Amino acid sequence: MPNAHLEQALARAKQSLYLTSPYPRVGCLITDNAGQVLGQGHTQRAGGPHAEIMALQDAQTQGHSVKGATAYVTLEPCSHHGRTGPCCDTLMAAGIRAVVATHGTFICDTDQV
Ligand SMILES: [Zn+2]
Repeated sequence: MPNAHLEQALARAKQSLYLTSPYPRVGCLITDNAGQVLGQGHTQRAGGPHAEIMALQDAQTQGHSVKGATAYVTLEPCSHHGRTGPCCDTLMAAGIRAVVATHGTFICDTDQV
């Protein structure tokens, strides 16, 4: 199941091909514990919202709560303050329980924030 979700996230990342240069193309998929997709998105033009933010907005637009949900991203969410805020903080604030990136799973310990 997680691999299928990561593949979907990769498919989303491909949609931002040539759009985000010089920044990485990232896709994000948010699912509930049953594996139902709550929201998805990909990185916008340089300086625009990252994939994680787009996916959170997509879920919100559809009226889905992402509390306890899992985010599948093709790249580890950023934690720096660049042109946009850090996605790590935004994901945790939204109640995302775990982040699965192509190179590992990160459990969000929201009690530590
Ligand atoms: Zn980010």
